[in-house]
Amino acid sequence: MGKALIIGAGGVASVAVHKCVQNSEVFEEICIASRTKSKCDELKAKLDGGKTKITTAQVDADNVEELIALINEVKPDIVMNLALPYQDLTIMDACLATKTHYMDTANYEPEDTAKFEYKWQWEYKERFEKAGITALLGSGFDPGVTGVFSAYALKHYFDEIEYIDILDCNGGDHGYPFATNFNPEINIREVSANGRYWENGEWIETEPMEIKRVYNFAEVGEKDMYLLYHEELESLAKNMPGLKRIRFFMTFGQSYLTHLKALENVGMTSIEPIEFEGKQIIPLQFLKAVLPDPATLGPRTVGKTNIGCIFRGKKDGKEKTYYVYNVCDHQECYKEVGSQAVSYTTGVPAMIGAAMILTGKWNKAGVYNIEEFDPDPFMEELNKWGLPWVEDFNPVLVNDEPVKTKD
Ligand code: NDP
Repeated sequence: MGKALIIGAGGVASVAVHKCVQNSEVFEEICIASRTKSKCDELKAKLDGGKTKITTAQVDADNVEELIALINEVKPDIVMNLALPYQDLTIMDACLATKTHYMDTANYEPEDTAKFEYKWQWEYKERFEKAGITALLGSGFDPGVTGVFSAYALKHYFDEIEYIDILDCNGGDHGYPFATNFNPEINIREVSANGRYWENGEWIETEPMEIKRVYNFAEVGEKDMYLLYHEELESLAKNMPGLKRIRFFMTFGQSYLTHLKALENVGMTSIEPIEFEGKQIIPLQFLKAVLPDPATLGPRTVGKTNIGCIFRGKKDGKEKTYYVYNVCDHQECYKEVGSQAVSYTTGVPAMIGAAMILTGKWNKAGVYNIEEFDPDPFMEELNKWGLPWVEDFNPVLVNDEPVKTKD
């Protein structure tokens, strides 16, 4: 049915490639292109021989001209951006120049400022409309499935959603005192930033990890979770009519937080360049180099993730609550595709999002966040491709008492 150019060959891309190959009816051909071509070749060697034709290429996705040349050579129907958030705009520029559909899993972040916002990508809307192509933003799990869950809740269960709490729990244990489950640089930038949530039309900022709650997650158990800013808050606050508040919580163990604090205190999480032995280095990038590569955590990670959304609102004038979540087992993922659940829960929706566009189920020109499309076909595919969801119509809500970690 179609051809995809997949940019990036890391943890998330590896899962997406496995899933594209499983879904060969839709992905007849894929080209895996990344900065380090050997990683693309390794993936090809692992998965070649099935119905999906696989090719590989080297590309620097920071370079628009290189990207345009590659797209012109491969002639894909869609570019799946599974590199890093820094490359979103260059890849979107190349898609515009070649009139090719685009999708990603994380919003643009300038490399020299730890600030991610949709404004840069939303600015492309008119140009994508005029070119007659689609940009699907944020087709991972969060953002991604959390947006699909929100659109599904609104479509089927509510007249109005007033409150959304997104709960991202990783109950996995990799046995290291400190490691991150996806790209360490992106992960540490995200969790060391100030927290932020949206209430009554305003953003309320908190200190990093200032707001803590405890929640008992199905199939995982009780975990401490902390309020973080997460990019889907920005698009959902805009796209969900009548919303009064939206928050995002992620679980962290004490060992992770203690290590992070120590690393922060000694300056290792800084993105300000420093002079070291006559060379400019960025401490956080150096830290990334000494931490375990998330792609290697697969065999040693045990436990489950549980990610979902709790909605509160009204249906036919009555109060209603609804919780929809997915539970994913790290070891099951590893057995299936050789990766742990954090890469899995991102790579599967990336494949599904691209499939929605390739099959024409999602078909509108412009730049859209995932909740702006019909959620039903995506929800069906989640069950089919390894991320089944569970519904709870009487969930325990997140305690609204202001439990703070600092006074
Ligand atoms: P990795 O670091 O494992 O992989 C990133 C890949 O991108 C690597 O193959 C890297 O190449 C490649 N790359 C980086 N820069 C360039 C460049 N300039 N040109 C070409 N290729 C480049 O990251 P992950 O797989 O963990 O994460 C991928 C994306 O998924 C990130 O944007 C992350 O934020 C997002 N994500 C989204 C989630 C969601 O739920 N929405 C959850 C988790 C992650 P090289 O091998 O040379 O370094």
